[in-house]
Amino acid sequence: MYDSDLSLVSSVSEPITGYALGTKASGLVEVLVDCPGIQALYTYNVPEQFQLQIGDILSVPLGGQVVGGIAIRFVDRLPDSLAISKIKDIEDVVASGLFKPNYWQWLTQIADYYYTPLIQVIKVALPPGLLARSHRRIRAIADVNAEIFVGDIAKKILKLLHGKSEKNYSWQYIQQQIPGARRGLRELLDRQLVESYLESGQTQQPKLQKAVILTADGAAEDLTDRQREIIEILKQHDGELWQSELLKLGGTTSATLNKIAEKGYIAIVNKEKLRSERELGIFQQEPAKLLTSDQALALATIDSLTGFARVLLHGVTGSGKTEVYLQAIERILAREQSVLVLVPEIGLTPQLTDRFRSRFGDRVCVYHSALSDGERYDTWRQMFDRTPQIIIGTRSAIFAPLPNLGLIILDEEHDSSFKQDQPAPTYQTRDIANWRAQLESCPLILGSATPSLETWVTITQNSPSPPLSLSPPLPLPPSPNSQPPTPNSHHYLPLPTRVHSRPLPPVQIVDMRQELKNNNRSIFSRPLVQALQQMQANKQQGILFIHRRGHSTFVSCRACGYVCECPNCDVSLAYHQPGTSAQALLRCHYCNHCQPQPPRCPECDSPYFKYFGSGTQKIVEELNQQFPKLKCLRFDSDTTSTKGSHRRILTAFVQGEADLLVGTQMLTKGLDLPQVTLVGVVAADGLLHLSDYRAAERTFQTLTQVAGRCGRGDEAGRVIIQTYNPEHPVLAAVTKHDYQAFIAAELPERRMLDYPPYGKLILLRFSSLDADAVERTVTEIGTILIEASIAGHYEVLGPAPATVMRVNNRYRWQIMLKYLPDGSASLPDWEVLRSKCSNVVKMTIDVDPQNFL
Ligand code: ADP
Ligand code: ZN
Ligand code: ZN
Repeated sequence: MYDSDLSLVSSVSEPITGYALGTKASGLVEVLVDCPGIQALYTYNVPEQFQLQIGDILSVPLGGQVVGGIAIRFVDRLPDSLAISKIKDIEDVVASGLFKPNYWQWLTQIADYYYTPLIQVIKVALPPGLLARSHRRIRAIADVNAEIFVGDIAKKILKLLHGKSEKNYSWQYIQQQIPGARRGLRELLDRQLVESYLESGQTQQPKLQKAVILTADGAAEDLTDRQREIIEILKQHDGELWQSELLKLGGTTSATLNKIAEKGYIAIVNKEKLRSERELGIFQQEPAKLLTSDQALALATIDSLTGFARVLLHGVTGSGKTEVYLQAIERILAREQSVLVLVPEIGLTPQLTDRFRSRFGDRVCVYHSALSDGERYDTWRQMFDRTPQIIIGTRSAIFAPLPNLGLIILDEEHDSSFKQDQPAPTYQTRDIANWRAQLESCPLILGSATPSLETWVTITQNSPSPPLSLSPPLPLPPSPNSQPPTPNSHHYLPLPTRVHSRPLPPVQIVDMRQELKNNNRSIFSRPLVQALQQMQANKQQGILFIHRRGHSTFVSCRACGYVCECPNCDVSLAYHQPGTSAQALLRCHYCNHCQPQPPRCPECDSPYFKYFGSGTQKIVEELNQQFPKLKCLRFDSDTTSTKGSHRRILTAFVQGEADLLVGTQMLTKGLDLPQVTLVGVVAADGLLHLSDYRAAERTFQTLTQVAGRCGRGDEAGRVIIQTYNPEHPVLAAVTKHDYQAFIAAELPERRMLDYPPYGKLILLRFSSLDADAVERTVTEIGTILIEASIAGHYEVLGPAPATVMRVNNRYRWQIMLKYLPDGSASLPDWEVLRSKCSNVVKMTIDVDPQNFL
């Protein structure tokens, strides 16, 4: 319905009669137009009769039609390219108060800080098509007799409305029935004979889905064993599950279910399912726990907060941070306010959301980028509902437009997934959550066992009762947009011990060089082998952690050494073990290119290949060989790519279907599995050798977190870390679970080199399909920057090619700027730099970068 020409007609309109130039400067408003095929900002005039508020839903003329829009901000000046005579009036205010004005202020703040156009921020924040789907409706509100005083078209509208008992129709329908209805509507609205509103989310087509309900629970003698298992699963879930869930959990077919239904044990019914991720029956009502004294102290402080505050809940793994969140949330809900809970990854959400649901039932709503458009849309509409609710989601959920926000929680605040690398804005969720909390005057809780250095420094330097300060007072790195901290707005709340005084597990470092000397060439050291055997003998469970870098598994020809490489990127392809019958695949972890494993070497035709590396798959194979009786489950991005697979694997593990969970990074993120008594780290070295200034911090965090997954239940746990660098100081801190020792060693290093949290970084990323063009561009821009850097008080690092230079056929370079946040630096004009970019080169500005390619 729209074509690409639309941009040409943007904001263009007939001259507005009687418009006084200049005097109406404050009557200009920027409107986000959002309908199929278009999401863009246009400027409109606001005629005097409207009491417009930022955040109001409007209807505006655009390209000969009237479309939906949101008032984003008042502007007092037109862009140079636009003449005032071309500005159209807004047509109407459709609904008021859905978005709070400060929401848009916040988005503007993000746009400014990350040097990103506002519309780009909005695109990240809002699900597309929000307004297109939200139909405008018109309702008659006055007595029908009034019609005698209005014009013909208005009369027709009134008649139409009063002909229906509910006295309302969609605006679209009215326009179809009555030509030129718009003018009549104006008159009726002005005279308050009708009102205009937005259809709420609930009246959307409900989605029906099959649910299975347990109807009889007798002796079940006429059921087969297999059928009885299904009944058991239903029982475990309070007698009700979505059919799709049950099929997965039971590994069964609908034919089997139908047979059980025929025997009268279950009923299969259609139930309405809101397209948000609310799942049935997984949880049982769970009461609040009696808090430990540390937890109680933390909760008391959080309870006492009024207005903005930044809280670091620094609790060792298993200290019960989640319980503190849950009870804090309870108080907020009781105050009729909503809560936003942000977590690092979807892998973490099934367990966590279950805990939240068992406390708060269906007031919990899950929001993350893996939802379908329909689910995202439904969740959004639900947020506009004013009943207090809890949104749990990954980083993009920070944009949830909850109208009455009372608390924001970032769980595992140190996690790198809270940083968006692309597309722009390259926001750090922790920082923008902080600004949002300030604007909303509500507390922000940052929870972690291994806080980021940024958070640690900010909190310890502003907290009224700081923990033992480890370094002399240092200049605080201010964020240009944040207000200076007010007294008592920062709080440090420690949970130094585990619940029930459970000990933190002992950590043993195994020197793999010694293993080699002792003729052990296996990837498993003797202590790890013994521990696995013991674990199995004691019928306990364990976790094996592998730090996988993109190209850790590759295939090479035994005869000529040929390595299969990605045709689009400068990396070797990773080998993926096929399912039982399928063909083996080679995959690129950068661009996702996928191809069958060639039967013979493309270079020398030899049929013999060697498989290198130690990805999860390879480890599982080795385990199967060395421990044929040990049942392993893989938990990595391969096995968890489909919807619900995280839950499926974790459920299987919790139910004892496997002895060992073998996986990557996702294992480190907050899993609470009380039966795990052994954690093994296959090789810590990949982590230690990451080539950026955060390597030590990331290693400490990852190893401490993965170690923290064990010994959380009644039985004590142990941790074994294999490495070729047993003397590494980070490993010593991990062994002693000593965050303070790590901080004491790390902060002075950062300070010496002016790295965050003391210095600030901006990374300019360049990429192009044309290798020469991008190199020319970075060289030119690099020269400009270096020349300006002395006067500008910043340092330039690079230009340098990215570690993997070519990805997806794009050649990548970067330039880093480093400066002190004391206001002395005067940064370059980004637009000038952009203008130096060849038009085949893409340049992105990553403010506070975290991941270096
Ligand atoms: P963390 O998030 O700090 O790693 P969790 O909140 O997951 O820790 O708590 C660890 C375990 O202890 C969970 O199984 C939780 O149910 C339990 N737990 C937490 N607080 C209490 C408490 N006050 N009393 C009893 N058990 C608790
Ligand atoms: Zn070969
Ligand atoms: Zn590739």
